[in-house]
Amino acid sequence: MNAVGVDVGGTKIAVGLVTPEGKILGEVRYPTPSSQQKLVDTIARAVSEVEDGSEVGGACLAVPGLILAQENKVVFSPNLRCVEGIPLKDELEPKIGMPLTIENDGNAAAWGEFRFGVGSEADHLVFITLGTGIGGGIITHGILMRGAQGSGGELGHVTIQATGPRCACGNHGCLEALASGTAIGRRARELAIEHPDSALGRLAASRKVLGEDVTELAREGNEVALSVLKEAGTWLGVGLAGFINVFNPEVVAVGGGVMEAGELLLEPARREVMLRARPPSSELAEVKAATLGAKSGVLGAAALARDASSGEYVLGG
Ligand SMILES: [Zn+2]
Repeated sequence: MNAVGVDVGGTKIAVGLVTPEGKILGEVRYPTPSSQQKLVDTIARAVSEVEDGSEVGGACLAVPGLILAQENKVVFSPNLRCVEGIPLKDELEPKIGMPLTIENDGNAAAWGEFRFGVGSEADHLVFITLGTGIGGGIITHGILMRGAQGSGGELGHVTIQATGPRCACGNHGCLEALASGTAIGRRARELAIEHPDSALGRLAASRKVLGEDVTELAREGNEVALSVLKEAGTWLGVGLAGFINVFNPEVVAVGGGVMEAGELLLEPARREVMLRARPPSSELAEVKAATLGAKSGVLGAAALARDASSGEYVLGG
């Protein structure tokens, strides 16, 4: 049966009606409201628009932040504060008229890549998404690893450099603080001060440099921008090597908007993986770009909603 996947992001909400084979039959998008009541109303409206009277088995909401699965609640979301503490299942189920589950957005995207994307041939997948922050998800033996409460798989908040830059979560030196789009922008602004005559330095003199500017300048061959991506890719590789040692995956998939930089990030990451991950895990694991792009969240959430209605879904807690 078809299912609805809802991907709640910091700036937009994407809702899709998805077939069991992973085809999106219809999709709507809305800007993410900043108040709790408007957020709930917007999600409910988007779900009813996309289902449009067709038979739907259930819906799953992919949300950024730490989740308490048994309470179907987001307890900590530094990049989307208004979603914290809402009893989402209780509020939304009566409005949308179908069973609803809540999942961390990184976990949902991982499930999307596992079912329909770069991990569809694997039983063991580590997925990491590089955006404003860093999310991720782990699949072992074909099962999404949620942990005891449903808040596991936070790959972006593994400490990589104990005395490193402060992270949005409050810790120092998380992978997110070293290899996210935010981290790339921050590092580029630091280096722009040291290299005022470079293209990066000249851009920084006119406006705030962001992560995507670095990719664009690097593509044009700017040495300083290239060095920023190489550094971020190296930190990424430090993180991935640890995940490979711990989880022994067949595939490590890297997605998210920052992957516009492609091999400029993955090449230094792979080099670091070769130095730090141990065989046989390092010989098996392939570090690849994710293939579903921004659709992984909607596709993964819909697949999780279907698995929940078929009883295959194991909630944490
Ligand atoms: Zn953190």
